[in-house]
Amino acid sequence: MLYKVLEKDVYRDFVKTLISKYEFIGPKKRDSAVHDFAPIKSISELDTNYIKTTIPPAKKLLFLPIEKLVSYEIGEKITVMPVNKSSEKILFGINAWDINGMNFLDRFFSTNLVDDNYMAKRKKLFVIGMDSEPAETNFSLSMGTEYAKDGFDIYFTELRKKYFVRIATPKGNEMIESYAKVKNASAEDFKEFDKYMDNYRMKFKLSVDIKSFYDNFESIYNDEDFWKRVAKNCYSCGSCNLVCPTCFCFNIRDDLELNQIKGSKIREWDSCMIPEYGLVAGGHNFRPNKENRLKQRYRCKLKTFLDKFGSYACVGCGRCIEACMARINIAEDINSVKKEVSV
Ligand code: SF4
Ligand code: SF4
Repeated sequence: MLYKVLEKDVYRDFVKTLISKYEFIGPKKRDSAVHDFAPIKSISELDTNYIKTTIPPAKKLLFLPIEKLVSYEIGEKITVMPVNKSSEKILFGINAWDINGMNFLDRFFSTNLVDDNYMAKRKKLFVIGMDSEPAETNFSLSMGTEYAKDGFDIYFTELRKKYFVRIATPKGNEMIESYAKVKNASAEDFKEFDKYMDNYRMKFKLSVDIKSFYDNFESIYNDEDFWKRVAKNCYSCGSCNLVCPTCFCFNIRDDLELNQIKGSKIREWDSCMIPEYGLVAGGHNFRPNKENRLKQRYRCKLKTFLDKFGSYACVGCGRCIEACMARINIAEDINSVKKEVSV
C-alpha cells in the first residue's frame, strides 16, 4: 500500500481527467433521499455526498440482474458460443462496506468454479473508493466493514484541506502518477487520517452483537415459535435479496428460438425468500414456509459463510432494512437472538 496526499484542487482536475478519458460510473443524485451509481459525463453530475443507494454499485456492474451467458446452435453437434461482454470502466466513489461486499462476491465467483462472465468484468473494473455517511440503518461498524483494507485500486479520504490517498495496486499508482501531482503522506497526515477515522466510526449509531448471534444460533435454530414471530409479517417478496451487495443466488433458463435450433442460456437474479425458490420437479418444496426461508437466509449470511469463507455474507449496509415493506429488520433480529436465549 502506498500512502499519498493530494491537494483539493488537484483532486478536482484528476477526477475531470478521468471522466474525460474513461467510461466513468459514479454516484448521481436521483431524488432528495437516494443516489444511484450511473454513467457520469461531467463533474457537475457527480455527487459523492451520498448516504443511500438502493442497488449496490459493484453488484449492478459485475453480476447483472439479467445476463446472456452463452448462445448455442443445435445441429449434428451442439455448438456453444460464450457471450462475455466486458469493457474497461472506472467505478468511482464506492464506500468501504460496498467494497467489502464486492470482495465477498469476488471470492464467491472465483472459488472452486471460476465464473468467467463475472471475472472478465471484474478484471476490467478500476475501483476508486471514498467514504460516505452511514445511514441510520447501517451497522457496518459491528460487522467490521466500515473500513476497506483491499479490493480497491485507489481510496480517497477527505481531510480538512487535502485528500489522504491509499494506493493498493500498480494500476492505481500508474493512474495517479499519470494524471495527478501527489506527495508522500507525512507523519502529520497519518495523524490527521487516524483522527478522521476515529470520528468517522462514531457516526455509526446502529450496532449488533454478531458474535452472540453466531454463538447462539444453533440453540435457537429449532425454536419454531421464535422464527414464526420474526417472519410473521414477511410478504416473501424477495426485495431484501435484490438490494443486498452479497446475495448471489441466480437461476439459469433456456431461451430457445421457435425453430428450436438456436438458443441462449440466460442468468437472472433469484431470491431465497420467495416460495418458488425451493420448488423442485414433482412439485415438492423443500422450504415452503416463510419462517424457514428467513431462518435459512440468516444462517447463510451470518453463520455458514463465516465457517466456509472466514467472512460473513453481510456487510451491515442496512439496505434490506430499508427495502422491507414488512419492516423486518436484520439488525433487530440479530440482537433478539441474544435476548431470546437469555430468558
Ligand atoms: S423480509 Fe421483507 S423484503 Fe425480505 S422477503 Fe420478507 S417482506 Fe420481502
Ligand atoms: S443482509 Fe442486509 S444489511 Fe446485510 S449486506 Fe445484505 S442488505 Fe446489507
